[in-house]
Amino acid sequence: MNGKEKENLTERFHEAVRDGRIRAFFQPIIRSLTQQMMGVEALARWFEPDGSIIPPNEFIPSMEQSGLIFELDQEILRQTCALYDDFRQRGTPLACLSVNLSRHDFVHKDLFDRVCAVLEQYSVPHKAIKLEITESLMLEDTEAFERTFERFREAGFFVWLDDFGSGYSSLNVLQNYRFDVIKFDMLFLRKLSVRGQEMLASLIGMAKTLGIHTLTEGVETEEQRQFLVAAGCEAQQGYFYSRPLSKEALLDQLDGKPDFLEKPEDEEYWDEIGRLNFVNPNPLNEFSARRKNGLNREYFAGAYDSSIALVECSEKEFRYIYATDGYKERLRELGFSSVEGLENALSNQRSHQFQVIRKLVLDALQRGTVQTVEYAHDEIYYRLSALFVARKEGRAMIVMNLNTFDSDREVQLAKEMLNESTALFTTYELVVMFYPERRKAKRIYTANNMPEYDREASFDLSLSKFCEAEVDPVDQERYLRFLDFDTMGERIRESSKLFIQGIYRMRLGREESNWYTARVTEIPSKGEKVFILTIQNVQGKLNRMIDIAVQEHPEFL
Ligand code: C2E
Ligand code: MG
Ligand code: MG
Repeated sequence: MNGKEKENLTERFHEAVRDGRIRAFFQPIIRSLTQQMMGVEALARWFEPDGSIIPPNEFIPSMEQSGLIFELDQEILRQTCALYDDFRQRGTPLACLSVNLSRHDFVHKDLFDRVCAVLEQYSVPHKAIKLEITESLMLEDTEAFERTFERFREAGFFVWLDDFGSGYSSLNVLQNYRFDVIKFDMLFLRKLSVRGQEMLASLIGMAKTLGIHTLTEGVETEEQRQFLVAAGCEAQQGYFYSRPLSKEALLDQLDGKPDFLEKPEDEEYWDEIGRLNFVNPNPLNEFSARRKNGLNREYFAGAYDSSIALVECSEKEFRYIYATDGYKERLRELGFSSVEGLENALSNQRSHQFQVIRKLVLDALQRGTVQTVEYAHDEIYYRLSALFVARKEGRAMIVMNLNTFDSDREVQLAKEMLNESTALFTTYELVVMFYPERRKAKRIYTANNMPEYDREASFDLSLSKFCEAEVDPVDQERYLRFLDFDTMGERIRESSKLFIQGIYRMRLGREESNWYTARVTEIPSKGEKVFILTIQNVQGKLNRMIDIAVQEHPEFL
């Protein structure tokens, strides 16, 4: 560009700014899990006096060459801050507005101060403005760039890496700088080959490992939308949702749709949830899926067997926010035709599903560690684990992992006899089957998060490990005598009932010990002797009464 051309362009540009023909358009950014609008990206548009539009690809290169880009970016930033102000005044504040910066902006020593000044003029908090920087930018003049980059971060700005995957050095850039969000280039979606999808899904997983949030641009179809949700990409942007819109068109679109806009106070909540990796890294599942479907299978996400769901809990209800295909498949095995079917069963507060899940969720919330229950429903045994992810006013998000498992002989037997009475399980803390002739134990139900003692090498080891860890030392010996299977049959026959029982102080995975009733019943079975042990909580006042009784009359035990 020679001097004359530059002069010419400068004049035209200033005229356009004066006439209000340099305008920021805004493209909605959508949160994958909620399909709400979490923010917008500002994109420059140059209008000619005749109303035609020059697209950025045509004018940005010459703006960069002439150095005018610095002014353009400030003008777009100014209009973006004005939009922030509009939203604030309408009473529907917006938490996330991104603007693009050019590498030429970083040549200016006062970039940081200028940006801050614009925000101050409109009283916009730094955290609301996200700075998009493309990866090619970071290759040159690293020192000056690095300094400014850090200043922005320290001042509370969020920095996003734009067009990730479009250049040669994407990974280097990630090693050298800390970004808050990676924006994946639309190239990944354009080549919607299985390979492209797999790469994108892996990169999303990598971003999560690095603690960086994810957004994919250029979403144009429902299929792409679904893929991104399944791959755990947190945010999306593209013509499928909306083209970039003028400020007026954007505000028009949002009129009468208050729920479409994400509330700023929800941003942190969803960001936390977004860190969850949806794609199961289980190599066995992946390998077997590949073998089954080959490389050219059509829908990548379904090929992974991860069985997780996000469930939002409040006082009144459980609501599924998202479930992987694997999870839905497990639900079908359990006889629910859909996630909604289960939601309905769960919202009936008297159903035992509700009781089981409620207890699990409360434990998960209280303890912050993975909580597990095992349960039987319609002949299928399943294990449900829950982990607390994030909380906001009156609501909490839990991630669930559901696995059904095929029963071996023992469980089969337990199933046969306990099928009709699984509802009763919920009143027990622990149910274990014993096969003394084979010296085997099999846990079939627990309400608590306890190690699987029944996996020990031998029956006696299972018993002694359980006793040591879960039974109060003062009661351990008594408990082992109670569970002496050599004399068990005889003791049961001598009792006037069909069972024997005792009370013991136990912990059962909890911090403090409590009184529990343990009962062993012999169950009729073909040939082999089988006993069932149930352990039940002694409730409230009765606990105290037993304490007092035992203090006065230790012989009572
Ligand atoms: P970008 O920042 O990666 O912006 C995304 C581009 O993709 C935008 O093009 C947007 O209109 C387009 N796009 C969004 N969704 C779809 C879709 O579903 N399909 C397709 N085919 N395209 C989609 P646009 O507005 O033409 O901007 C092009 C580039 O120009 C931007 O890429 C950005 O790098 C640059 N740019 C735009 N405005 C500014 C600005 O104010 N300052 C600076 N420095 N650069 C800007
Ligand atoms: Mg951008
Ligand atoms: Mg981009």
